[in-house]
Amino acid sequence: MSKLRKFLIIDLILLMAVLGALTISRILKENNSDYIEPEPQEEIAEEIEEAIPEEGEAEEVAEAQPEISEEVNPDEWNLLLVNPWNAIPEGYSVETASVEGGYEVDARVADSLEAMLADCREAGHSPVVISAFRTRDTQEYLYNTTANKDDTAYPGTSEHECGLAVDILETGYGGDWDNAEKTAQTETQKWLTENCKDYGFILRYPSDKEEITGIVYESWHYRYVGREHAAKIMDSGVCLEEYLKRLDYETKTRIKDQ
Ligand SMILES: [Zn+2]
Repeated sequence: MSKLRKFLIIDLILLMAVLGALTISRILKENNSDYIEPEPQEEIAEEIEEAIPEEGEAEEVAEAQPEISEEVNPDEWNLLLVNPWNAIPEGYSVETASVEGGYEVDARVADSLEAMLADCREAGHSPVVISAFRTRDTQEYLYNTTANKDDTAYPGTSEHECGLAVDILETGYGGDWDNAEKTAQTETQKWLTENCKDYGFILRYPSDKEEITGIVYESWHYRYVGREHAAKIMDSGVCLEEYLKRLDYETKTRIKDQ
């Protein structure tokens, strides 16, 4: 056997060994049901930074900015920011209270939610809660079993885990329940979108803020932020990320001016 041929055969054996090892590791990874593909958090963080307009960048942006009162503390519990780039803080605990349908929410939010649902019914509509507080285990189960990972928040980054979010649909709305454009046309959803601010809730994932919130349009997901903030957010048309960025700017400016 020539020297060259001997080297070629050794190379071939090495190549096959490497390919074999790669295939085995991939099979092991796919069969492990606990395996969760991590999100490329840093890349998305850069995207969101670019998507949020800078202070005074465009006139219409400046006009849309809500007034921030001096008493606002950005660390208020009801302003907790949870999104794909901001996980729920380590060790965050929530005291829940039961609401209708066997669901639970942060106890500080329960009365506001029940008042909103009662008044919505009073106005002739038929809201039904389809999701509220979720434990980390539930979120992990949902994430690991969903076919479309883009539609389910990565465990630790869902607002449902902090008990401040609730999903509400019109009773009897079947088939296309997750078609936000369609459910937004129901009378119940129209009433909720218009009136949620009076109870301290905001429509958290508007259709025109997907890049900033990191979540696709959800006409059913309402988030509690308190009445004052809810009114400012809903009236100015900003999303929570934009509002908090503005708040952060105002707070820093105020500290600097003192
Ligand atoms: Zn939701």
